[in-house]
Amino acid sequence: MKVAIVHNDRVTTQVAVRHLQVLLAEKGILQDQQHPDLVISVGGDGTLISAFHKYKQQLDKVCFAGIHTGHLGFYTDWRNYDMEKLVDALASHPVEENEVGYPLLDMKVTTSCGEKRFLALNEASIKRISKTMEAEVWLGGERFENFRGDGLCVSTPTGSTAYSKSLGGAVIHPRLKALQLTEIASINNLVFRTVGSPIVIAPDEWITIVPKISDRAVVIVDGERISLTDVQKVDYKIAAEEIRFYQYGHHHFWERVNDAFIGDR
Ligand code: NAP
Repeated sequence: MKVAIVHNDRVTTQVAVRHLQVLLAEKGILQDQQHPDLVISVGGDGTLISAFHKYKQQLDKVCFAGIHTGHLGFYTDWRNYDMEKLVDALASHPVEENEVGYPLLDMKVTTSCGEKRFLALNEASIKRISKTMEAEVWLGGERFENFRGDGLCVSTPTGSTAYSKSLGGAVIHPRLKALQLTEIASINNLVFRTVGSPIVIAPDEWITIVPKISDRAVVIVDGERISLTDVQKVDYKIAAEEIRFYQYGHHHFWERVNDAFIGDR
């Protein structure tokens, strides 16, 4: 098995990475940053998101494991003081027999220059920086509503605990193949009306957003602004690809939700 390590620049992380490299070498596990079987991210959930975008062209070959150098994360099952346990587990419980796959978001943006496709792990949102965004929302090819407000966000189940939750979205178990649409400060009054609540769509449905003024919409994928102008239409569906995680030692999903947001266990 070949392992790649992706990490952030924090001092605690750098110490953890050096220790991890020693542990891997002791078990005879090779490191290969180009063509790994397993990508270990060391840092936070944000670091795992960066690792995903770095290796998203190799999702059919690559599995992920996350080590958190702070609190327990949603993509980061292992703590930096657990690294021996992780490396022992990799030696005794092979990655290919201990994987779990989670849905990704496939976003197709149509501009006057053509179509571009993006994959998101957490979510993709469309906003206007200033002035109200007006857009038509279509669900499964049927016109649903005319939206006015700051913007709209479409998230994956694993992204439901991130930006989507701050927007009032539900926490969705990552084994469900579903996408959630949440509103960002919609205008609801006697003139303008939206459904006003998050919507969860089925695996065979898709969401289309058609901004009224195409040159002012900004698209953000997993926290990164995509440099596109003249966005005419955005289609969202569950991607054919999925992200696979090393499942051995995986924490129960609702345990993580409690740890992250309630903390009374
Ligand atoms: P960032 O500073 O890297 O992340 C913001 C926070 O979101 C961090 O505490 C991060 O955890 C946490 N996070 C990331 N993915 C998560 C998930 N699936 N479930 C629960 N928490 C999660 O921000 P960024 O680089 O701009 O964007 C990365 C992601 O952060 C975005 O995709 C977005 O979902 C989220 N975000 C949320 C808000 C908000 O809730 N208002 C605002 C900005 C960004 P770690 O500390 O472990 O990295």
